[in-house]
Amino acid sequence: MAARNQGHPTTSWYAQTANPFPDLASLKGEHRTEVCIIGAGYTGLGAALRLAEQGVPTIVLEEAQVGSGASGRNGGQIHTGQRRDQYWLEKTVGPDDALALWTLAQDAKAHLHGLIAQYAIACDLKPGLIEARHRPIGEDHDRAWRDHMASRYGYDQIRLIDRDALAHELGCETYFGGTVDEGGGHLHPLNFALGLGLAAIRSGAQIFERSRALSWRKTAKGMEVTTPHGTVICQRLILTGDGYIDGLSPSIDARVMPINNFILATAPLGERADEIIRSDAAVSDSRFVVNYFRKSPDGRLLFGGGENYLPGFPSDLARFVRRHMLKVYPRLADVPVTHAWGGSLGITLNRTPYVRALAPGVVAAAGYSGQGVMLAPYFGKLLADASLGEMTGLDLLSRLPAPPFPGGKHLRWPALVAGLSWYALRDRL
Ligand SMILES: Cc1cc2nc3c(=O)[nH]c(=O)nc-3n(C[C@H](O)[C@H](O)[C@H](O)COP(=O)(O)OP(=O)(O)OC[C@H]3O[C@@H](n4cnc5c(N)ncnc54)[C@H](O)[C@@H]3O)c2cc1C
Repeated sequence: MAARNQGHPTTSWYAQTANPFPDLASLKGEHRTEVCIIGAGYTGLGAALRLAEQGVPTIVLEEAQVGSGASGRNGGQIHTGQRRDQYWLEKTVGPDDALALWTLAQDAKAHLHGLIAQYAIACDLKPGLIEARHRPIGEDHDRAWRDHMASRYGYDQIRLIDRDALAHELGCETYFGGTVDEGGGHLHPLNFALGLGLAAIRSGAQIFERSRALSWRKTAKGMEVTTPHGTVICQRLILTGDGYIDGLSPSIDARVMPINNFILATAPLGERADEIIRSDAAVSDSRFVVNYFRKSPDGRLLFGGGENYLPGFPSDLARFVRRHMLKVYPRLADVPVTHAWGGSLGITLNRTPYVRALAPGVVAAAGYSGQGVMLAPYFGKLLADASLGEMTGLDLLSRLPAPPFPGGKHLRWPALVAGLSWYALRDRL
């Protein structure tokens, strides 16, 4: 079962540096609308904005606060492409759909940049994403990957970085080389979510906070969504929620499971910040339980590392993540950790997102498996388009295989924990 979202964590550096955002009312009484969206993260807000821009009456129901799920807590890293790489996609869905999925992901990137520019969202957007190898082997794979992306997809933004250059760039000796993707980047994830929320409201969408959708059903009047103090009657329904979605669809519950991941912020590093990630790119490494890090505009290290598969978080989060940070940056042992927080994200068995029409008039997207900053706002747009009858994007994403977790809703946990722990253990071998 997913942990319930209680709102922005007070210990989050993002929450403490959030742009102003109004408190929104909770839903009371009966409301009628054309489209109802459940969840106000990137997916739900991306859908709401798209619909509102076209004048479609839209209500968003958010259990906690706008952007207080994974969208306001994540690493802010903008990865190019789909969650699974093009090799995997070519093998799994064939070359034509693999190319279409690549093009869709590039459209998602352009959409992200377009939204930030069009709505003047102040979210510290910066270019560059470094993938750092934690093992000595793999340079041949990186080279072949760079060449494959350039020759088959015309993507020439990837370059190799060798061990010495990477050590100089990052200010640590931990990695064996890697790649730099000039088309990747990073941003302040919560401020991006709040900016999307404001844009949706100003375009005409209604968002209700602290309004958990408890259930939905089809009635003679349309779809009826129930919250603790109200109902929404709508003609179309969009389900989002990623790691927080639970109990709204048996089909999603069977395929999307929550896991928790954690981040810390150090105190500002002062002059030392100049020697750490000199290009100011985002960094993620090749571990199965990935370490990802970047600098804040005020020179802190924001470091994500470690995860668990339980309904709760470790009791001392700062200590938990700091252990991972010190393996990468032993030189920061004397730097205080000022913030630490965690969030839930939805994963699927094969790590491709679960995007489907679940019933007539009901579409859903969840299970981004840790890669939603760039994709989720665009998937929201595609869900909105599908609600209005334009099915191309949704149809393509629906062709991605989506096996259920073995064991059904109740027995899937032990299998998941055993499987993931094995992979996490492999990192240490
Ligand atoms: C710690 C962490 C680090 C991450 N780092 C990265 C990264 O660096 N790069 C990247 O690309 N991705 C990253 N991700 C993943 C990314 O944040 C997600 O893929 C993305 O935010 C998903 O957006 P979403 O709108 O689908 O879900 P969310 O942002 O989780 O929003 C779902 C919303 O739905 C609400 N909700 C759920 N159920 C109900 C209900 N019944 N009624 C009303 N509301 C409901 C929740 O309260 C929540 O606000 C990370 C995730 C985490 C947790």
